[in-house]
Amino acid sequence: MKVEEITLHHIDLPLVHPFETSFGREITRPCILVAARAGGCTGWGECTAMAEPWYSYETIETAWHVLRDFLVPLVLGEEIASPSDVAYRFRRIRGHPMARAALENAVWDLFARAEGVPLADLLADHLPQAGSSSMAGKERRRRDRVPVGVSLGIEPSLDALLDKVAQRVGEGYGRVKLKIKPGWDVSVVGAVRERWPNLPLQVDANAAYTLDDAPVLRELEPFDLLLIEQPLHHDDIVHHAKLQAQCHTPICLDESIQSSSHARWALEIDACRVVNIKVGRVGGLTAALEIHTICQEWGVPVWCGGMLETNVGRAANVALASLPNFKLPGDISASERYYHEDIAEPDFVLNDDSTLRVPSEPGLGVRVDRKRLDAVRLRHLVRQAD
Ligand SMILES: [Mg+2]
Repeated sequence: MKVEEITLHHIDLPLVHPFETSFGREITRPCILVAARAGGCTGWGECTAMAEPWYSYETIETAWHVLRDFLVPLVLGEEIASPSDVAYRFRRIRGHPMARAALENAVWDLFARAEGVPLADLLADHLPQAGSSSMAGKERRRRDRVPVGVSLGIEPSLDALLDKVAQRVGEGYGRVKLKIKPGWDVSVVGAVRERWPNLPLQVDANAAYTLDDAPVLRELEPFDLLLIEQPLHHDDIVHHAKLQAQCHTPICLDESIQSSSHARWALEIDACRVVNIKVGRVGGLTAALEIHTICQEWGVPVWCGGMLETNVGRAANVALASLPNFKLPGDISASERYYHEDIAEPDFVLNDDSTLRVPSEPGLGVRVDRKRLDAVRLRHLVRQAD
């Protein structure tokens, strides 16, 4: 397939509710959408870089630059044999995983639409075979619905947080994740656990602690958490292994796993017993498939993280989370939680069993609303093959 045209759209969508983590507070969600066109089909990818370099060093501006000047020319007008071929072409680019993922994922959607198959099916077909003989050929089927949970930010008060938990549990979310930071941890998690003794609960520190804080983190043990996500430094793997050795609660790595190599290194030293896969952070769906299967070989479950995506990125997350080793609920809430009016339709709606439906339509299974795109777009750039 030859990609004839690639368009970058820089948009900014107001969030329904501001979202606060240990990094800061988000009121709108700017992002770059990438459209790749070939043979009358258009595939879409979302860049999850934010305006500021808090979660990652990438920003909207670095992603725009790297896409425009380096990534788009490696794909435009070239004969692309498969979506993974794009990941291969990008191997010379150091870093910038979110920029790479945006274009690679657009090509995945393009191939799925051109073949008339749901993205989830295309991903399942491209899943690397697990190496161990006990795994070979097994568990390759995808699900039709994916279990999801809700991620709750840091609130101005404990009462405000308890109200939020009550609201989301009332809406039907079967798993809750609490953001924590020093000073907003043990007593807060204890209060939530006391009120909801059986609720599947996990916490995410976004790298806000050091190994010296291990005694505080161990105080979370009695609360029967599913996992403690990224407690230590964002690019540290070794200290997480030291912490895991002191904790029964599984450590889950998010920020530290930026490639399939990172996942392998982390598993080799028992730095985590769960991995959060974010497609943008690891550089695209090809790398996400590799990490899925590496973790499967180690008997380590994965789950799909969220970056306040629009329905474009959400649809890719749902397709990915349908794969067999995604054994824990993803941070993929229903669309209504994020935006009054999303950029793409239809919305993802929460089912009674705390799941979202995996689209059965070709590609991502969502349509970008061009009028809405025009209304929220700050700039765009079109590149066409010669
Ligand atoms: Mg996280």
